[in-house]
Amino acid sequence: MMNNQGRPTRPGEAHGAARETFTGNRALDIEEPLIFDQGRFDSTGIDIDEPAPFADRLGGLTRADDLALPGLSEPEAVRHYVRLSRNNYSIDAGLFPLGSCTMKHNPRLNEKMARLPGFADVHPLQPQSTIEGALALMQELSRWLIELTGMKAVALSPKAGAHGELAGMMAIKAAISSRGEGETRTTVLVPDSAHGTNPATAALIGFDVQSVPAGEDGLVHPDAVKAKLGPHVAAIMLTNPNTCGLFEREIVEIAAAVHEAGAYFYCDGANFNAIVGVARPGDLGVDAMHINLHKTFSTPHGGGGPGSGPVVLSERLADFAPVPFLRDDGRALRLIEDQSGNQAFGRVTAFHGQMGMYVRALSYMLSHGADGLRQASEDAVLNANYVRAGLSDIFSQPFGDRACMHEVLFDESWLKSAHVSTLDFAKALIDEGYHPMTVYFPLVVKGAMLIEPTESESRSSLDLFIMAMRDLAFRALRGETERFEKAPRFSPRARLDETRAARKPVLKWTPREPWVEAAE
Ligand SMILES: *Cc1c(COP(=O)(O)O)cnc(C)c1O
Repeated sequence: MMNNQGRPTRPGEAHGAARETFTGNRALDIEEPLIFDQGRFDSTGIDIDEPAPFADRLGGLTRADDLALPGLSEPEAVRHYVRLSRNNYSIDAGLFPLGSCTMKHNPRLNEKMARLPGFADVHPLQPQSTIEGALALMQELSRWLIELTGMKAVALSPKAGAHGELAGMMAIKAAISSRGEGETRTTVLVPDSAHGTNPATAALIGFDVQSVPAGEDGLVHPDAVKAKLGPHVAAIMLTNPNTCGLFEREIVEIAAAVHEAGAYFYCDGANFNAIVGVARPGDLGVDAMHINLHKTFSTPHGGGGPGSGPVVLSERLADFAPVPFLRDDGRALRLIEDQSGNQAFGRVTAFHGQMGMYVRALSYMLSHGADGLRQASEDAVLNANYVRAGLSDIFSQPFGDRACMHEVLFDESWLKSAHVSTLDFAKALIDEGYHPMTVYFPLVVKGAMLIEPTESESRSSLDLFIMAMRDLAFRALRGETERFEKAPRFSPRARLDETRAARKPVLKWTPREPWVEAAE
């Protein structure tokens, strides 16, 4: 029997009609109901004293019903979350080939440093004189970011890549207004292959977005940019290396043309992982670029870990950086919160940003050293090209078989004859024990499969991944379509009806019958 949300309601029904075990569990794969479906609403794991009588000021809106929180004992609650956590896939469990998002190994040293009480327990409202160490850490992180990017200044406070984009674009907007061109320069150029956050950021702060087509080779060419430039253009937002995993080779000429037209060059730095220690965006003509600390400088992310998206700024934009920023007044470091007397465009967060991520990122930088960071980038590029070389005789590449940066992009044309889609193929990879690669992004490539293997993978782990991919490819081409249509077959949940989930999302838990009766 299923409940009204399509979940089994009794042990043994978890895996469909064919009941294989009495409990529905499969050895360590334990079928775990929702916490609400297992709690008893008349009991609780803790005893709370009845509150003393008090006069509420809710104007008669006091809740009359029970709160209906599931009453679990501590061991039951612990078991619930431990069982759920075992259904997670993570970089600590296996190779995580997700492209664009850079899933890196998170060294345990970072975690240890972030948990030092002097960093973990500081409060943003503490007097600044009591947090000199934390400010010094922010200063040191800023120094590394400025050095690695060859830029003039950095605003640490944005809390994600997209947030850094917003801060960078607001600095550009402020700079344009200060030139008296706020009314005329209202267009932002964005290539078709850009991450969705780029046009969204520009539109959010009132710019008109105009797209720039990429060439046949997947790169943006100066002529295509020049054709769109003019006195109405505020900025271009370009990703380098781009979302197709290719280095924009003509970036210097593009930057020069953008500057000549009086506009600014925003670079989406989410793929900085491929070039740290090798190329400096400041040398390439970039005016503003966010850095996803959580991608490039490790730190856990995806499904919960907080992000951090500092934005580095060129000489031309440095003065417009948001508050707060650090200043060394000769005696001590101070976090400047006040906007008067400077050209800061405002602020993008309460307080100073994500302290825990600053600690992790700096720990990563210092433990690698400058040479180690460069090697991490080179290894990331090497690993992606190793995967490319291992697959390119079967998997088709949209822009021909040539070297890529830290991620390799395939399309679906090799799968055409097989009646297997990119989605089916990715789902079959789950059965092989891998998180799927990024699929259907970038949008400009049909049936895209974007694979970023991570620099910390060993050669043997890459070989196994390549063999698994090749085995699946042969099966697809041999016509074993059922394996793909039904995939994933071995995961705790089979393929979801994503259309129904999007159209008819179940956002509210509704009690099952027995509870309704018990409550009445
Ligand atoms: C991840 C990513 C972003 C957005 O970064 P968040 O930290 O997820 O907000 C922007 N652009 C590209 C190319 C990305 O890969």
